[in-house]
Amino acid sequence: MSQPATESVSQAYDPLESLAATLFRPMGSDGVYARTALYEDMVERLAAYISRQRDPRAEILRFPPVMSRHQLEKSGYLKSFPNLLGCVCALHGTEAAIRSAADSHETGGDWTKSLAAADLVLSPAACYPVYPLVAGRGRVPSGGLLFDVAADCFRREPSRSLDRLQSFRMREFVRVGTPHEIMAFREQWMARAEQLASELALPCTLEVANDPFFGKVGQIMAVSQRQHALKFELLIPFHATAQPTACMSFNCHLEHFGEVWGIHDSAGEVAHTGCVAFGMDRLAVALFSNHGLDLARWPTSVRQALAL
Ligand code: 5GP
Ligand code: ZN
Repeated sequence: MSQPATESVSQAYDPLESLAATLFRPMGSDGVYARTALYEDMVERLAAYISRQRDPRAEILRFPPVMSRHQLEKSGYLKSFPNLLGCVCALHGTEAAIRSAADSHETGGDWTKSLAAADLVLSPAACYPVYPLVAGRGRVPSGGLLFDVAADCFRREPSRSLDRLQSFRMREFVRVGTPHEIMAFREQWMARAEQLASELALPCTLEVANDPFFGKVGQIMAVSQRQHALKFELLIPFHATAQPTACMSFNCHLEHFGEVWGIHDSAGEVAHTGCVAFGMDRLAVALFSNHGLDLARWPTSVRQALAL
């Protein structure tokens, strides 16, 4: 976000700063921004563009920004990314207890000391609620299952950089089935993603990646994830001198969610799962940073793809 001149002179020039003034409005916290009409319209056009690429067999679900804490704990999130998780907390108890905690703020006290964790967390990715839902339906039918899901996601990573938001939109296509079905789905989407980037005139590379697993044990998990090529990312540079940013990811979870939730395929084997994630806010920022703020000057293929 734009900063006072005195502060910005000491910091490296960030070409994204000038975009921020047009696309976002501050909300008092780094990485949490109000979105202007110009920006939001682009996110909606992108969403419609992605919907046009959807397999008609996909079941569409839209999730709220919170999900069951129990489900996320069971998914193993605390082992991998405890540092990124946001948990909903609230004041519980009698009217007197809640009143006294809230009123302590007026006298300079810390009302947050009285908070207790609720049964909800802020969703860190869109696909987590899919797996328990599938498990509740019995065996996965032959041919597997496909979902189109989306959620506002939260990850506790405060940053002033426009490509690192704490609250961002994620759209995912999620596949449940046999190992072969998952790999085929991922391969198909990696090829499609490069075509999409080309149609949107966004320079990109597709690379093996790892999740930012927490701590020292996390480093080992990250190496293993790379060695087995379980994650790929579509990287797009936001400007000429920028490190490319991951705007999509292609994830193979093997039997992790199948085992956790007891999901079995039609042959009785533990189901495999995989997902393809679109970072809606990163893709939108990538479009503006690569093509500018004047939509009339965007390349023809981009204008056509986004129905501009
Ligand atoms: P993943 O689960 O692979 O980490 O995230 C899926 C996608 O969500 C990423 O490829 C990226 O586009 C988007 N994403 C992840 N973290 C952030 C973030 O901090 N800010 C924004 N704007 N998007 C993110
Ligand atoms: Zn996912």
